[in-house]
Amino acid sequence: MNPRSPFVVGVHELVRRPGAMHTTRLAIPAPGDLRNEVIGVPTGAEVEIDLRLESVVEGVLASARVLAPLAGECVRCLTAIADEADVELTELFAYPGAIEIDPEDTEAEEIAEILDDAIDLEQAVRDAIVLDLPFQPHCRPDCLGLCPECGVDLNTADPDHGHDVVDARWAALVEAFNQPDGEPDETPGGTAAPTTTGEESDR
Ligand SMILES: [Zn+2]
Ligand SMILES: [Zn+2]
Repeated sequence: MNPRSPFVVGVHELVRRPGAMHTTRLAIPAPGDLRNEVIGVPTGAEVEIDLRLESVVEGVLASARVLAPLAGECVRCLTAIADEADVELTELFAYPGAIEIDPEDTEAEEIAEILDDAIDLEQAVRDAIVLDLPFQPHCRPDCLGLCPECGVDLNTADPDHGHDVVDARWAALVEAFNQPDGEPDETPGGTAAPTTTGEESDR
C-alpha cells in the first residue's frame, strides 16, 4: 500500500471499536486506467467519493457512492460522448488474519485488509466504476451510425442518403420502373378536370 495514494484513508479511530462510524468525502484526481476501450474517466478528472466507514468485528466496512465524469465515443457514429459514472460500492477491509481463506478454495476472492491502520480504496473504486461502464456506449439510443458505403454520419445526412448499388437481378426491374411511361398518361388525366367542369356548365 502506497501511503501517499489519495485512495488510502486512515481508519485509526475505528480500529477495534465495533459500532464506531465515520463519514467523509474525498475528491481524487482519476488515475489513467478507470476505463475500458471505448469509455472511461478522463485522467485527472475528479472522482468524488462519499464514504461511510463502519467499525465491525472483523475490520472496517466501507460503503461509498462514487461519482465521476465519463468521456468516450459512440460505437456507431464515433461522436464524442460525455456521461457520468454514479456507482455504489461496499467492501470489507479485514484485520490481517481476521478472515481465513480456505487455501483449497481457488475461487475465493482476495480479501482487502487494513494495513497500518489504513485502507486503500483504489481497487474497490476501480472495480465499481469500470465494471459498470457500457461496452457499447451510444450518443443516443436510436443513433443511426455511419453509412457503411461512404462513412457519412447518417444522423446528420439527408434522410434519403443512399447509394445506387443495385443487384444485377434487380437492374432490369429498376430500369422498367424508371421508364417515363407515367408522364404522358398524366397529361390527359390533368385535362380531364376542365372537361368535367365543361359538362357542368352545359347543364
Ligand atoms: Zn452515435
Ligand atoms: Zn453513404
